[in-house]
Amino acid sequence: MNRAKNLERLKNEEFDICIIGGGASGAGCALDASLRGFKVALIEKEDFAAETSSKSTKLIHGGVRYLEQAFKNLDFAQLRQVKHGLEERHTVIRNAPHLAHPLALITPVFSWLEGFYFKIGLTIYSFFAKNDSMPKAEWLNKKETFEHIPTLTPKLHSSVMYYDGQLDDARYCLALAHSAEEAGAAVVNHASIIDFEKDSNGKLKSAIVNDNLKQLKIHNSESNNEHFRINSKLFINCTGSHGDSIRLLANPKQEKRLRPSKGVHIMLPAEVLNSKDAILIPKTKDGRVIFVIPFEGEIMVGTTDDEYLDLEKEPILMEQEIEFLLDTLRPYIAKVPDKSEIKSGFGGLRPLIASSDSKATKKLVRDHEVEYDNESNLLSLLGGKWTTYRLMAKDTIDEACKILSNDVKCTTEMHYLIGGENYRFEEWKNIQKTFNLDEDICQHLLKKYGTKANEILKVSSQTERIHKDYPFIKAEIFYTIREEMAGSLRDFFARRTRMELMDWKATLSSVDVVGDIMAIELNWSEIQKQANISEYKNLLKSFIKIANIN
Ligand SMILES: Cc1cc2nc3c(=O)[nH]c(=O)nc-3n(C[C@H](O)[C@H](O)[C@H](O)COP(=O)(O)OP(=O)(O)OC[C@H]3O[C@@H](n4cnc5c(N)ncnc54)[C@H](O)[C@@H]3O)c2cc1C
Repeated sequence: MNRAKNLERLKNEEFDICIIGGGASGAGCALDASLRGFKVALIEKEDFAAETSSKSTKLIHGGVRYLEQAFKNLDFAQLRQVKHGLEERHTVIRNAPHLAHPLALITPVFSWLEGFYFKIGLTIYSFFAKNDSMPKAEWLNKKETFEHIPTLTPKLHSSVMYYDGQLDDARYCLALAHSAEEAGAAVVNHASIIDFEKDSNGKLKSAIVNDNLKQLKIHNSESNNEHFRINSKLFINCTGSHGDSIRLLANPKQEKRLRPSKGVHIMLPAEVLNSKDAILIPKTKDGRVIFVIPFEGEIMVGTTDDEYLDLEKEPILMEQEIEFLLDTLRPYIAKVPDKSEIKSGFGGLRPLIASSDSKATKKLVRDHEVEYDNESNLLSLLGGKWTTYRLMAKDTIDEACKILSNDVKCTTEMHYLIGGENYRFEEWKNIQKTFNLDEDICQHLLKKYGTKANEILKVSSQTERIHKDYPFIKAEIFYTIREEMAGSLRDFFARRTRMELMDWKATLSSVDVVGDIMAIELNWSEIQKQANISEYKNLLKSFIKIANIN
């Protein structure tokens, strides 16, 4: 991925479709539209998946709770959404098998009756997942349950095990953006749309873009006037929870549509589960579902669901949210860790569409909507979830086809993403033989870069670990800057690798090492390097302080 070349294209070419926002929705739309032959631009304000799309629970699912709600409320829209999610699981895994895989989830129960209820419910859930090869739901006795997860409470009666999918959300989003570029899109991160220009009929004809990476480089030492214009026949708003700001920028007469809701996760040490399987806690005190999931060798627990209004502020983990999540674990896990054992945490905003009759965000439907504003010619993709990103993109680009009078069919269902085609996990053994590296490093490279794993080691021979406890190596810094558009320390730690999500303190102690290499690769002066390093360290320290996990 070449940012400088793509920036030049944005400045000099006219596009059919300009997509605003490089999360799951925008990157999915960019790939779909490029494969249909449109000339596409994708503009992302921070980094691909910088916001919600890197902060999800990382499940590819129909949603067990939504199925229960659908039956309880006889809500067919909800049921349809569950069915779509279950149908998409297979496609999300097939197209990037290095980044997504099946995951077993165990629901502990405390009586025979409860077990019977969940067995019926999860059998119906499996029934809706037609045409996929995931095993069906199974009722496990107490002994079998402990064979799967030895750390559960001895008070349980039995459990029901079912399957869903799990993905590395940030790297999946990056693979979408990368694949869109491969299909011809001009893809750029660290650039935001700050204004529109209209023709004499009031339709959008161009957008004003700010190059934020320039700002990052000069680091507030002078004001940033690096604006340029991008011309496009159609603009598509895929800005997630910021959707209203772009809708109103295009047409201030419109009503706001979104009710963002904050969800947080905490990261605990692997010993909390001691298992490769996950737990579904079906009901918290206030009627939510909580997942306890192995991710990247640690255990992720979440999520919460609370209305969030200050969209300019990052929704970070707060101390009281930790208490809530640990409390929820207590009836299920024999020995719940102490707050001081928390390694990190992160929050994201669900871009929920407001409905007039529901005040609670947990009741708002997670479905998506494609909205066309006839007055400004802005198309907006609102709401949705990671699981159905491909269907959401298909619906949006089908609508774009109508507006642009160009009827081409969607082909993303059978399109492998970068690194996915001919992927074989066993290849890690060949890498080990050729490069003489530790097993965990070779497996990590295969799982994150797929068939591109070898290329990381061709770009640089620096195979030392960045931190002794994790499999990330220095060669990845070179590769992610040169081939994956990593432009800041946080791009590297939070999204190219997932170290920031896994372990704040390990990340803090690795910032200098990565900063030294980044400074050379990205041409930062000594002052710029020190400013970027201290800014990122201060951010990590503030997370630790606010969560109060010192
Ligand atoms: C806590 C939580 C858990 C979740 N868990 C799951 C799950 O397990 N499974 C599932 O299927 N779904 C899950 N979801 C939902 C899913 O993560 C989201 O629906 C999805 O990531 C939203 O993607 P998006 O692209 O619409 O929004 P975002 O990822 O927020 O992307 C929007 C992008 O637009 C950019 N942007 C904003 N303004 C501008 C501008 N002016 N110019 C340029 N760019 C701009 C932002 O920087 C951002 O990167 C979860 C959500 C949350 C909050």
